[in-house]
Amino acid sequence: MENETGSKNFIENIIEKDLAEGVYDTVHTRFPPEPNGYLHIGHAKSILLNYGLAKKYHGKFNMRFDDTNPTKEKTEFVESIKEDILWLGADWEDRLFFASDYFPQMYEAAVKLIKKGKAYVCDLSAEEMREYRGTLTEPGKESPYRNRSVEENLELFQNMKDGKYQKGEKVLRAKIDMASPNMNMRDPVLYRVDYVEHHNTGNQWCIYPMYDFAHPIEDAIEGITHSICTLEFEDHRPLYDWVVRELEYPHPPKQIEFAKLYLTNVVTGKRYIKSLVEEGIVDGWDDPRLVSIAALRRRGFTPESIQRFVELCGVSKADSSAEYAALEYCIRDDLKLKRPRMMAVLDPLKLVIDNYPQGQREELEAPNNMENEALGSRRIPFGRELYIEREDFMPVPIKKYKRLYPGNEVRLMNAYFVTCTGYETDEQGNVTLVHCTYDPATKGGNAPDGRKVKGTIHWVSAEDARPVKVRLYENIVDEEKGVYDKETGKVNVNPNSLKEVTAYVEPALMEAKGYDSYQFVRNGFFCADIHDSREGQPVFNRIVSLKSSFKLPVK
Ligand code: ATP
Ligand code: MG
Repeated sequence: MENETGSKNFIENIIEKDLAEGVYDTVHTRFPPEPNGYLHIGHAKSILLNYGLAKKYHGKFNMRFDDTNPTKEKTEFVESIKEDILWLGADWEDRLFFASDYFPQMYEAAVKLIKKGKAYVCDLSAEEMREYRGTLTEPGKESPYRNRSVEENLELFQNMKDGKYQKGEKVLRAKIDMASPNMNMRDPVLYRVDYVEHHNTGNQWCIYPMYDFAHPIEDAIEGITHSICTLEFEDHRPLYDWVVRELEYPHPPKQIEFAKLYLTNVVTGKRYIKSLVEEGIVDGWDDPRLVSIAALRRRGFTPESIQRFVELCGVSKADSSAEYAALEYCIRDDLKLKRPRMMAVLDPLKLVIDNYPQGQREELEAPNNMENEALGSRRIPFGRELYIEREDFMPVPIKKYKRLYPGNEVRLMNAYFVTCTGYETDEQGNVTLVHCTYDPATKGGNAPDGRKVKGTIHWVSAEDARPVKVRLYENIVDEEKGVYDKETGKVNVNPNSLKEVTAYVEPALMEAKGYDSYQFVRNGFFCADIHDSREGQPVFNRIVSLKSSFKLPVK
């Protein structure tokens, strides 16, 4: 995870110190998602960070589903999460784990704490427990059940496990310190009763461990050394340390927190995405306007572009927000040399070359990528009638306009020089047809007499081009209003976030399959939609335009 300047991040410094001092002799990390939703760009940071550290220090990386809360978890998410992580380039090899497989060990761990006098069964209701807990400025009060004997606690905890109590009737709590300034240390709940079916263990258990108890145990069982999580768990670290210490693990793991990755004006919250899906504003969790990993993949982002983006963002302890433009920069830069540059006209206007012989046709040779010869070349059909972009012609040119207007000569990319001789309009004055003449001596796009033209425009042959559906996107968020409406709690949706047009494209593009991507010259990078493309009839999503305002930060 070396950043672009080659300096180390603070986690690498901690790890190297630990290795040097012999605190650990290896590095073992994990990514522990809860299978309760799709992964998003923020998770990618955590995945690539954990995986990258294990690789860098020749250690191990575990994939672990933190499935200790059965109410929200589903197998569907397990599969999508695995797919996304592999696609991103992180590989757990044979190290796939489920926290729920450790329920027996967690139960034993709880029994051990009870026997040490460090945990007790408490009968306070949730509401009473809240009252007893105190506040940030006032200490809490000890539960009247706090001093039950070890024997009584063992029996009651066994009864909890055996289903003798209703949900909420009893919980197991750690016996730590009701006066601790850290609220997390005020006898936190370790186990609760709940009668819900678990996606992995079915109805085997009716008690489930709380996250703060389960997580350090999971890490310790797997031999994790550096348990990397996000900043909101900083205040939970003393409890993490308490659990691994009291359970006397010989090589306890260490929790390290880093700041979450946020994107400005981007929706990442599960709750909000869920309502966008339910209201039909987006066509699913992988709608190309979203930033779930599946959505980014569908939009045409590559794993390399996301890796680069995450590296650019760096790893730190301070919350900050990255610009979506930085993500766009990364995909543009990644695809620039990798993808063929094809011609597609998104807003067609017909151009007739009046001196090109009627009925004549030819094929012109064009390099697939001027900057990367390895991509080879292709032949493009050319004829008397073409489509050009409507914006590439102006009856009356504005200042500095270099494209077609009456009397002006331009280059048709990879073809000939043409000079505009006139145009036709409909009754409303809209231009319907542009006339021009070509210079046969300029084949390939250069004049033998050395004369220059200022503009180069792209085109497709009207007879050979095929119509395809193309989707152009803007941010789903109305940036002027901000992401969320404070009153309704809903996303401020940009009504123009999706625009569909019929474009005319080179015939070669009709072979595109889902996820295939291309540059459409001057119009951006486009990717064939995985859901809506059919054999021989692709639908294209714009990944990103070619214009950028983003500048690489100078470090
Ligand atoms: P929630 O807890 O609301 O269900 P979550 O996004 O925290 O959602 P988890 O499955 O708990 O989901 O996350 C898995 C891992 O990804 C955790 O280690 C978490 O800290 C990390 N993570 C989550 N969001 C981000 C983010 N925006 N940036 C970096 N890491 C993140
Ligand atoms: Mg979480």
